[in-house]
Amino acid sequence: MLETEHVPWERRGLAPVLRAVRPRKLAKVPFVELADGRLQGVVSSGSDIERVYVSSIVAGSHGFNCSTNNNRPCGGLRGAPCKHLHALLDEAVLQYGVERVGRYLRIDVTDGVQTGVDLARRLDGHHEPTPAAVVFSRFLRHLAYLELPAADGPLPELDWFPATGAGR
Ligand SMILES: [Zn+2]
Repeated sequence: MLETEHVPWERRGLAPVLRAVRPRKLAKVPFVELADGRLQGVVSSGSDIERVYVSSIVAGSHGFNCSTNNNRPCGGLRGAPCKHLHALLDEAVLQYGVERVGRYLRIDVTDGVQTGVDLARRLDGHHEPTPAAVVFSRFLRHLAYLELPAADGPLPELDWFPATGAGR
């Protein structure tokens, strides 16, 4: 009954892990999903954790949008998909495979379409503003979910994701 006396303090020290675990560097595309009739996701600006872009492409019409999480339009979006949209397509191809992404967006992938770049060339939509807030809040929920099991260790790589929201 006296054993508790000698619990090493280091062990007790494990308990109050600070909640403020934040990834120092986001994966390039930390969040991508096929949902709500869109391919949509979050693309990091590369250096600044505080700045991410929310990018989306509508299935069928291929209307695309890219803005910051505060709804500021992406400066790279000049009548054509910006680099964030390209990154989003690349990541979608990695995670879902080109056929599934093509089918979802209704892009014909039968003749040699293999990469995100190929898909981007087949887009025939134009800029179609959509609010970033919904996608962004899903991303935050997703991050919170990922952080839970990591409370006593370094944050795992952010490049794996359960396929939530997929397959609709
Ligand atoms: Zn952009």
